[in-house]
Amino acid sequence: MPAWWGHVWHSSSVTPPRTLLGMFPHELEELVGTWGERAYRGRQIFSELHRRGVLDPSLMTDLPVRLRRCIEVTRSEEVRRLHSLDGLTSKLLLRLHDGQQIEAVEMNTARADGRKTICVSTQAGCAMACVFCVTGQFGFARNLEAGEIVEQVLRFNEPSHRVTNVVFMGMGEPLANYDETLRAIRLLIHPEGLRLGARRITLSTSGLVPQIHRLAAEGLQVGLAISLHAANDELRSRLMPVNRRWPIAELLDAAEAYFKQTGRRVSYEYTLMADMNDSDADADALARLLAGRLCHVNLIPLNPTEDPSLHAPSMSRALAFEARLRRAGVAATIRINRGRDILAACGQLRLSEKRRREAVPA
Ligand code: SAH
Ligand code: SF4
Repeated sequence: MPAWWGHVWHSSSVTPPRTLLGMFPHELEELVGTWGERAYRGRQIFSELHRRGVLDPSLMTDLPVRLRRCIEVTRSEEVRRLHSLDGLTSKLLLRLHDGQQIEAVEMNTARADGRKTICVSTQAGCAMACVFCVTGQFGFARNLEAGEIVEQVLRFNEPSHRVTNVVFMGMGEPLANYDETLRAIRLLIHPEGLRLGARRITLSTSGLVPQIHRLAAEGLQVGLAISLHAANDELRSRLMPVNRRWPIAELLDAAEAYFKQTGRRVSYEYTLMADMNDSDADADALARLLAGRLCHVNLIPLNPTEDPSLHAPSMSRALAFEARLRRAGVAATIRINRGRDILAACGQLRLSEKRRREAVPA
């Protein structure tokens, strides 16, 4: 078993202490009680933070001044903010209180539905070591605490244009940080907070099978996306070391169980890499694997990485792959990563910031 597995098993021990933003109303009630305040003040703090999105205590006008002075909200600091040329996508590089850097992305649709989707990170780095992923190649630093996850969403929520959807597809493996990810989801859907619908939240995983079963039993209607990327175990294990522990058959069984328990159709992410997993034979193998399952495949042409041997296929190859899946009865769409001009793919902005710093003499 590779050495990095240690990080996955022990990752829960490297979660920072609970922040105010990561607390439920009843926990805030208890906390303010220890300060000699009436319990309802705790619920007011929750509402200021999560409903009104006020993260600066001096602006929490519902609270008495003495209480505002007691409160300290642990917040991240904005390092860089980039906007795509089409104005629809923006990306934030955030520095956490201990110096770790994470990314969050805002994606707006041009359609009239006003959909605003935030892509959040759940860990600083990632221990899963997928070969095509910039974050995975960085390695793992620590889990994010629930408040650090929720803050990424609140930063983009505006009264005139509220967040409508959240995807757990940023840096990190959400199911390797299970407890904080679940807490963040429950905070996001809380009726006294942002009140997002669970069905508007999608969690993407590289395939931690026991945690998929656990998630299925939570009674939440969260969407599940599975990062598949290969239709046979030999290739998938090379691309994604997690496959050596939970091979494709076990992963698909878990996806089936998730669908049965939640009624939510599972989607599969398949990153297309030239001459690696993009041939007609690969498409046919994928179609055989998914035949008869109610699912959807998102085909994502590879975003640039540090590895010179990995390339995105041509658009005509990607279209041929998609057509072959569809002909075989598998629903598939090509998802062009929006905001390429702002390094919107996972881990790229942090990498460029690191390079920029290295290029500047001290
Ligand atoms: N750790 C989780 C969620 C974060 S990664 C997971 O792996 O599912 C979000 C998605 O981006 C995953 O489907 C991942 O495989 C994909 N991804 C990572 N690096 C990529 C790259 N260079 N190009 C295209 N997709 C990539
Ligand atoms: Fe981690 Fe997901 Fe990147 Fe794999 S693709 S290294 S699981 S963030």
